[in-house]
Amino acid sequence: FVILGIETSCDDTAAAVVRSDGEILSQVVSSQADLLARYGGVAPKMAEEAHAQVIDKVVQEALDKANVKELDLSAVAVTIGPGLSLCLRVGVQKARKIAGTFNLPIVGVHHMEAHALVARLTEQELQFPFMALLISGGHNLLILARDLGQYVQLGTSIDDAIGEAYDKTAKWLGLDLRRSGGPAVEELAREGDAEAVKFSVPMKQHKDCNFSYAGLKTQVRLAIESRNVRAEIPISSASSEDRSSRADIAASFQRVAVLHLEERCERAIEWALKIEPSIKYLVVSGGVASNKYVRARLNQVVKKTGLKLVCPPPSLCTDNGVMIAWTGIEHFRVGRFDPPPPADEPEDTLIELRPRWPLGEEYAEGKSEAR
Ligand code: ATP
Ligand code: FE
Repeated sequence: FVILGIETSCDDTAAAVVRSDGEILSQVVSSQADLLARYGGVAPKMAEEAHAQVIDKVVQEALDKANVKELDLSAVAVTIGPGLSLCLRVGVQKARKIAGTFNLPIVGVHHMEAHALVARLTEQELQFPFMALLISGGHNLLILARDLGQYVQLGTSIDDAIGEAYDKTAKWLGLDLRRSGGPAVEELAREGDAEAVKFSVPMKQHKDCNFSYAGLKTQVRLAIESRNVRAEIPISSASSEDRSSRADIAASFQRVAVLHLEERCERAIEWALKIEPSIKYLVVSGGVASNKYVRARLNQVVKKTGLKLVCPPPSLCTDNGVMIAWTGIEHFRVGRFDPPPPADEPEDTLIELRPRWPLGEEYAEGKSEAR
């Protein structure tokens, strides 16, 4: 069977058509990066308008490229949370419109579950139970996926996610933000000395699997101020001395940001093996998982423990429609979906969104070990 997936939870409008055997028939993403660069962040109202402007076109293009008509679909999958309500609503309304008109069931998808499960599309061997580190702009999660829909949260961020720290670092270093901040910092870091600035690793004294990136963000800002980096000058016109101190900060930030991930993953693997001794894989997904340095370092961690690292390709790590369609397929297969909405559903019908939606239960032992 074939499913259409729609994603509008944050700043990308995405749609894709995927077949139940894992064949990707089409994939379309329309990014708001230009808007973000101009205004320096996501403003919900503006993001909503941007989604509304392109959603029809993005979905139509996904269907056309897949050479599929609405009537060929078995269901429509759509992100219902977590994310910005205003943005989520655009995608959900579109999904319900199609589903209502063509009498198709709907699968409401958890955005972070989709980041994790897409690894089962790219790695056919990947069976439950497995572990997942999900690292993006809004989330920093360590998850034990015991079965479909059955997740244990081993760790989460107590403040910012790593992607947010990358984005702010990029902005403060005066990097080109027309694409997202993460890749810009990764690139500049290659020129720098990762030992040049002594940032401290977050939460050393907490023996748990939680994350914190707010403090590191502050350390970066202070380092920029104390080194007189002239971030108001774009990096492309910076003096070579200024450029190299910016590169040192980028490299030093990245080393410590990722060291924090490494330490938490090591502990989480220990915890997870106590609950599910048969796990063989650590999935790393979400936008930050497209970073080559992140992948290389986590590969080292995983090697030590005898597990295998699975990273989807970058286009499936950052927000995309394929992961939503695929998660729809996983749930649809086992009968988890909602019936088609009425064909003439009024636009102002109250629809269910889950802007805040935890993925699974918190690990109780983790809480006590943390003290
Ligand atoms: P969430 O999934 O938490 O709702 P999101 O949907 O905004 O957040 P994604 O598209 O999954 O996030 O990830 C975007 C984040 O990934 C941004 O913070 C971006 O800077 C970061 N990112 C993308 N590529 C890289 C990279 N190469 N290195 C570091 N960070 C990166
Ligand atoms: Fe995401």
